[in-house]
Amino acid sequence: MARYTEAVCKLCRREGQKLFLKGARCYTDKCALTRRAYAPGQHGQGRKKTSEYGMQLRAKQIARRYYGVLEGQFRGYYEMATKMEGKTGDALLTILESRLDNVVYRLGWASSRAEARQLVVHGHFTVDGHRVDIPSYLVKVGQVIAIAEKSRSSAKIKAVVEENAARPCPKWLEVNRDNLEGKVVAMATREDVDLEVDETLIVELYSK
Ligand code: SF4
Repeated sequence: MARYTEAVCKLCRREGQKLFLKGARCYTDKCALTRRAYAPGQHGQGRKKTSEYGMQLRAKQIARRYYGVLEGQFRGYYEMATKMEGKTGDALLTILESRLDNVVYRLGWASSRAEARQLVVHGHFTVDGHRVDIPSYLVKVGQVIAIAEKSRSSAKIKAVVEENAARPCPKWLEVNRDNLEGKVVAMATREDVDLEVDETLIVELYSK
């Protein structure tokens, strides 16, 4: 199945919350959700579905779309989370945050997760000195993520790093903007994740 490539703002309007899929535009008044805060389509301003299943489904879609993960892979992360210690919902978010594309975005080296994914695929980053071009690669505590030596002179990379330099880095990561290196100092916890979603609804959906 192909990745969703329609106007991504529709996804935010469908979920009724910002999913930050378009980079800098998401932080401005041009955000489609700011201008049209209702679901797209003919019945977008009508009654909203509020069944228990509908709420669970929406919660799953919000998280899946926020991280840009396809259905099968998302379910795989859920299965992985059920085998981890602690609450399954928390573990699921920890896994999603650990994806290399998300880490690159969190470090401020991409304007969106979609852009981060593309930059990773093009081989612009290393993990512990080795080039990694797999967006779903899961980072571990202590690992050092860096912009690859040969990519540091790229005008595109320089522009994107400069554009996102002011975006705060979460406390589970450390970024050195001079060395263009980042370190995983801890695994992300629920408190570190700024996504507005009730992850317990996702667990309820998949555990049926
Ligand atoms: Fe979502 Fe960003 Fe589009 Fe706003 S601009 S609707 S946050 S993708």
